[in-house]
Amino acid sequence: MNEHLFFREQLLAWFAQHHRPLPWKGERDPYKIWLSEIILQQTRVEQGLPYYHRFTARYPTVHHLANAPEDEVLKLWEGLGYYARARNLHFTAKYISDQLKGKFPDTFANIRALKGVGDYTAAAIASFAFDLPHAVLDGNVYRVLARYFGNETPIDTPHAKKEFAALAQQLLDPARPGDYNQAIMDFGATHCTPQQPKCPSCPLQNHCVALRTRRVSTLPAKSRTLEKKDRFFLYLVPQFQGDTFVRKRTDKDIWQNLWEFPMLELPALPKNIEEELSSMIPKGGSVRFSRPYRQTLTHRVVTAIFCEIDFPENTPSDTFDRAPFEGCTRIPKTNLKKNIAMPRIIDQYLRESALSLSLF
Ligand code: SF4
Repeated sequence: MNEHLFFREQLLAWFAQHHRPLPWKGERDPYKIWLSEIILQQTRVEQGLPYYHRFTARYPTVHHLANAPEDEVLKLWEGLGYYARARNLHFTAKYISDQLKGKFPDTFANIRALKGVGDYTAAAIASFAFDLPHAVLDGNVYRVLARYFGNETPIDTPHAKKEFAALAQQLLDPARPGDYNQAIMDFGATHCTPQQPKCPSCPLQNHCVALRTRRVSTLPAKSRTLEKKDRFFLYLVPQFQGDTFVRKRTDKDIWQNLWEFPMLELPALPKNIEEELSSMIPKGGSVRFSRPYRQTLTHRVVTAIFCEIDFPENTPSDTFDRAPFEGCTRIPKTNLKKNIAMPRIIDQYLRESALSLSLF
């Protein structure tokens, strides 16, 4: 039996015994498959699962999602991160609902052309919903193939994508593309894992080049490690007659269209924050500081400190610098957690400071 056929058959046999039962598996509705795939981009299954249930319950069809207000969609997405996915989801739902009269595209090229859908997601939807023979290639697949075939090509190079995509396509079972894709993804996620893969019980162990040559821990190879840039945010949390102030992040930047408190971005956290803020504290007002909060994104590490500023009654507006508060909306503090979507770092701060801010 040739190597490719052996790999495919062993994988499908493993899948028959070990596949993880998940609500989108075996699903044929391309809308629900698409929803699950967008939710699972850069997200662990355990984390994405409740969001899948929430979205399919609130928006059972693409028309329901298309007709929802964007703020509502972002609110439902809150806590999942990478909010561009939610905006693209909403945009694409409108496109399918309005332009395509609700009919989901059924060719690889047309699925791939949807906003927010890359090669991987298009192959997953095409194979799961329409039995089209397109192999998926994600981190799990790179790892399994690099180890099994002992491939040293660094997977973060443009060349690797071509090479691994061609190999993945050759291995795909054209008679069962959906099952095969699901099998290799599950195998990578639960068996040939990044740390401590289950080699002793692996059905591929006798043919696995990485195991034979003791390279399991060094494959897949990478040419560099990603450098993360630090960003420092000083959030001003005004407290004024039971209200506070927020604004929408409209710039093309992280957290676009989410809400936040007025904020100063600084090159580093200042040694003396009170001095940094002195012009923004009104006469007779006071300020308290939170501990530093950190959130790690793909290319960024954000550190934020929240400065709760008490404004006394009848604060004269000429006693402090109003610039950071320009363009903000005044809302009751109790509405912060209800109606608007905020980045996870703010949500975490709000949960910890709920009592002092009288939020609930
Ligand atoms: S033997 Fe180990 S490294 Fe090789 S495919 Fe199996 S789990 Fe992965």
